Amino acid sequence: MASYSISKSSFLKFEQCSKAFFLYKKHPYLRDKLSIDKRLTFKRGNDVGFFAQKLFPGGIDVSVETKNATQAYELTQKLIESKQSVIYEATFIFKEVLIMADILHYENGRYFAYEVKSSIKVSEVYLRDACLQYYVLKNSLPGFEDLFLTTLNADYILEGEIDPRKLFKKRSVKKEAEKNFGYFEDKIKDASLLIEMNAIPNISVGKHCFKPYPCDFFDTCWKDIANEESIFNLPFINKDKLFEWHEAGIKNVSEIKDEWIEKPGHLKIKNSFVNKSAIINRQKISELLATLQEPLAAVDMEIWSAAIPQLAGTKPFQQIPFLFCVSDGYKENYFLSEHFTDEREKFAQELIAQTEKYNTLLVYDKTMEELAINGLKSYCSEYALELEKVKEKLVDVFDIFRDLHYYDPKFKNNFSLKTLSEVFNTGVTYSDIQSGLEAMNQFEVLRNEPEGIEKQRLRQNLIDYCMNDATATLKLVEYLKKL
Ligand code: SF4
Repeated sequence: MASYSISKSSFLKFEQCSKAFFLYKKHPYLRDKLSIDKRLTFKRGNDVGFFAQKLFPGGIDVSVETKNATQAYELTQKLIESKQSVIYEATFIFKEVLIMADILHYENGRYFAYEVKSSIKVSEVYLRDACLQYYVLKNSLPGFEDLFLTTLNADYILEGEIDPRKLFKKRSVKKEAEKNFGYFEDKIKDASLLIEMNAIPNISVGKHCFKPYPCDFFDTCWKDIANEESIFNLPFINKDKLFEWHEAGIKNVSEIKDEWIEKPGHLKIKNSFVNKSAIINRQKISELLATLQEPLAAVDMEIWSAAIPQLAGTKPFQQIPFLFCVSDGYKENYFLSEHFTDEREKFAQELIAQTEKYNTLLVYDKTMEELAINGLKSYCSEYALELEKVKEKLVDVFDIFRDLHYYDPKFKNNFSLKTLSEVFNTGVTYSDIQSGLEAMNQFEVLRNEPEGIEKQRLRQNLIDYCMNDATATLKLVEYLKKL
């Protein structure tokens, strides 16, 4: 029985940082707790991978039939011997490296593998991951011909039933993979040697902690660095610069010399940190507040972007608004599209009707709201003029903070509405839902939930989450007015 010590994901960790790889292999208990957003991203990947099995239906899923990687490998070998034509999660080992091919298809004496990604773009990491699989398959599966990186087709428009052959597009990685066989051989040797060593590699923190993925051992490596005084709390300053200072032994903001800072705005932030006092440009804040016209309200929207389109006429990852909340401090209104049918037109009508009486609509970072309104304009062009009026009424409160007319060192480098709300003590408390991705996920659950208590709970959670953001935006402006 072939043994393995390196999985595909541990190999990718090794490429990012040898220390991360070592900790993953030898001290997995040090891994950070998986965030809900990461869990949801994995779930989406799994859902798309599962759906892609429809490209080659009727296969045997090795991961379902077995309990661990060893059993998965043994079952794959048996299925290969019996010439099973489609295998899902087919497991192979070569030179201590274990890979699982999402789909393996046997046709006319040759094998073709498919690696499915829930993305419309082919990234450098996806390509590397697919090339590693190709390397293992080529060396362990007689008759293996090619591996196709399979991504979602950005141009696919759903009409009637989903057609998996049109939903996905594929590209061969044969050329890149074969060019890189030597690279993988060397890297695998290095990774195996590292496992045999009994010492944690002496790697210091750097840009590799964030790229291509945020590292899983962040808390372990950054615990002594990420303190209140750390230079990494500074917003807007280029990461290269921060790591350059860090490597030169500069740990705290107060140790940075003024002459090292090129931009006057950055110098202001530094001084704000050192003096523990907020930057307040009353003139600029007043100018923005003077543009607000009563009556005003704050608006927040939630967007759904399903990897696999669910509504006729939509594409993979198309952004579809499903909820908006409006609060003027006295009255709160919302519209939640929750049925299985396409309610974008109703959404547009409600948005126009519920914001009509206001002259200003406050938003915190209007990028998403503008995108959503533009999408609605093209979907229901008969409302384009009125929707444009809604867009013109939007005033972005984020501008004040992004342009540093107000900066409190307690924000550090986090300008999220939640952080600002806490610093300004707006009294808005966030509960069940913590992020837009979580809201999107709950919306998907809500759509499929039968009417009942649970559906009502999900509905209320979503409305509370969105309304909290609208209320917090309104409270920020109230706070700024008092200045
Ligand atoms: S946090 Fe950074 S230095 Fe530490 S293991 Fe991860 S990538 Fe390596």
